[in-house]
Amino acid sequence: MTSKLVTTDVLVIGGGLAGERCAIEAAAAGLDVLVLSVVPPRRSHSCAAQGGMQASLGNCVKAEGDNPTVHFLDTVRGSDWGADQEVAQIFAEEAPVAVRELAHFGVPWTRVRAGKNRYFIKGEQVEIEEKAENDGLITHRDFGGTAKWRACYAAAGTGHAVLYAVDSEAVRLGVTVRDRTEAVALVHDSGRCWGAVARCLRTGEHTAVLAKATVITTGGYGRIYGQYTTNATINEGSGAVIALDTGVVPLGNMEAVQFHPTALSPSGILITEGCRGDGGYLLDKNLDRFMVEAEPEKQELASRDVVSRHMARRMRDGLGIETKYGPHLWLDIRHLGEEHLTTKLREVFDICRDFAGLNPAHELIPVRPTQHYSMGGVRVNKDGQAYNMAGLFAAGESACWDMHGFNRLGGNSLAETIVAGRIVGRNVARFAARASLDVDTQVALRAIERAESRASAWLERSGSGPTVYELRDEMAETMIADVGIFRTGDELEAGVARLRELLADCDRAVLRSKAPGMNPELSFALRLKGMLKLALVTAMGALARTESRGAHYRTDHPQRDDANWLSRTLVRWPDGASEPVFSYEPVGILDLPPGHRGYGRADQVAMAESIESYNQRVDAEQRQHGRLDTEESPGSRIRWGAWAEEQ
Ligand SMILES: Cc1cc2nc3c(=O)[nH]c(=O)nc-3n(C[C@H](O)[C@H](O)[C@H](O)COP(=O)(O)OP(=O)(O)OC[C@H]3O[C@@H](n4cnc5c(N)ncnc54)[C@H](O)[C@@H]3O)c2cc1C
Repeated sequence: MTSKLVTTDVLVIGGGLAGERCAIEAAAAGLDVLVLSVVPPRRSHSCAAQGGMQASLGNCVKAEGDNPTVHFLDTVRGSDWGADQEVAQIFAEEAPVAVRELAHFGVPWTRVRAGKNRYFIKGEQVEIEEKAENDGLITHRDFGGTAKWRACYAAAGTGHAVLYAVDSEAVRLGVTVRDRTEAVALVHDSGRCWGAVARCLRTGEHTAVLAKATVITTGGYGRIYGQYTTNATINEGSGAVIALDTGVVPLGNMEAVQFHPTALSPSGILITEGCRGDGGYLLDKNLDRFMVEAEPEKQELASRDVVSRHMARRMRDGLGIETKYGPHLWLDIRHLGEEHLTTKLREVFDICRDFAGLNPAHELIPVRPTQHYSMGGVRVNKDGQAYNMAGLFAAGESACWDMHGFNRLGGNSLAETIVAGRIVGRNVARFAARASLDVDTQVALRAIERAESRASAWLERSGSGPTVYELRDEMAETMIADVGIFRTGDELEAGVARLRELLADCDRAVLRSKAPGMNPELSFALRLKGMLKLALVTAMGALARTESRGAHYRTDHPQRDDANWLSRTLVRWPDGASEPVFSYEPVGILDLPPGHRGYGRADQVAMAESIESYNQRVDAEQRQHGRLDTEESPGSRIRWGAWAEEQ
């Protein structure tokens, strides 16, 4: 074996929460685990998560009566019935265990304090007596779209606290990490994945990491929206790209893109939903609390898609505060008081001070909706196995598992990284323990050669083409203008046409820096074509879906259409093809029948077929689309009708 080939039992691509939690599971099973990461794991984007992590522990008064079934119901409604309901049930059941386990890893969860506590609910101050027997238990805050207070939190630095604890556990178990190393292609042969080609970002050298099982945990792809996202600059979707590049692995629901209501304007830094959960509210330029009238029941705590649309309409109607950076609205958390802001929302207080020069205890915060979360990703079955590719798994934001459907609830993503990390990690370990590394090394060497020649082609190209940064900025402007919160057929068509041009332009773009090793421009250039492909399939998926569901809102097709679109979009990009191929599979076995979410639009086009007939075709149709066998048969984890008792 040459020094260009490295072997391991399990390769994890991505050192964020999902990746490290998977790695822990595999390492604890006694396997060799290698993690690749663009940045040191503790700088992964998970670190930026603020507000909390959903788990139905039911520990404080406003959480009483909570349980996994209520969590499941909230999640499916939040998804606008786009979620796989079995996955949502598995998730809701495991979340409380996962959160308690994190306490053992050392996460300093904020705790219940017995006695009188001051909270703000729907803008009103209330005093609630927390029970003495619950003193010291993990407490909860309110979040959008939930029936109970369920978000467990560590001030407003939840992601930071959880990532540091999980990373410490990975270190303790001897997980090997290669940071500043990027997976640029999967090594695969005849429908079997054998690892990935990795490019060192310091030297530009390529190696192949050969593994019995490979997991993609590379996070979201918000950066296809350029600066119009709360995501870190490393969220460029390269895990989804390497899966798409196999030609056979589909991505799911790429058109399902979440906009978060409250990003700081103009920087785009997130201000957590925990602010509204703790009693903050939104105001327009007349200081009118418009969400009370717009959503009388949930107000500011309707789901993110609904609140973002109300905000966007408000600004479109001239009721935003105009600035040279565009309009914004106000988030008011002054009434929570400085003590609350500097303890339970400490990071928000710091962000406002450091990035906007304001004190939120005395001043309003300028906010507007901004791209935030990728519901779409590498389509996997309930075990986390990618469609059409044995030995390849995915988890976390890079995966379409799919518990979020067309809208993820706040706090359900951090929880997903840990819950899916545990479950998928266990399945990966089981798969790897049964497998042997029977890979033809020529396959790996050819994959390295292809990656090397791609890099050389960029370095050798000269001429007067556009720069990669010009193309990136054009992509971002196109996405925000044509594939944003509100979408129309005409705008989407224009967006698709422009993205096709940009994809073609990518082959003419030239680099200004020709260094082969440490060269951020070259590293970005190598990602750009993939990002444009992701942008294109997002826009094309949105154009094809002639209904509105969750975050995908077509003003020319405003109703949710369960008769025609109770389906998940799948997209593949066959090898050598100039265009992607779309298909649709049933969302999964339905337990909770489609209905009104309790917020947002109440009118839908009802299913034409019976739930029984829909459920009967799920298994066969998903298999036709490439779903691999699962350890337990589909539907075996559904707690049929348990929800009926909760309603
Ligand atoms: C500002 C902000 C606040 C948030 N707050 C909350 C919250 O309060 N509650 C909640 O539930 N959710 C929240 N979310 C969402 C949540 O934080 C993310 O969905 C989640 O942390 C993603 O974790 P991950 O492990 O899937 O990916 P990430 O944490 O993004 O990690 C991805 C990893 O992949 C690596 N990587 C990427 N590409 C490659 C490659 N090609 N090769 C090798 N490595 C690669 C990166 O280096 C990184 O280590 C928030 C999101 C944002 C943007």
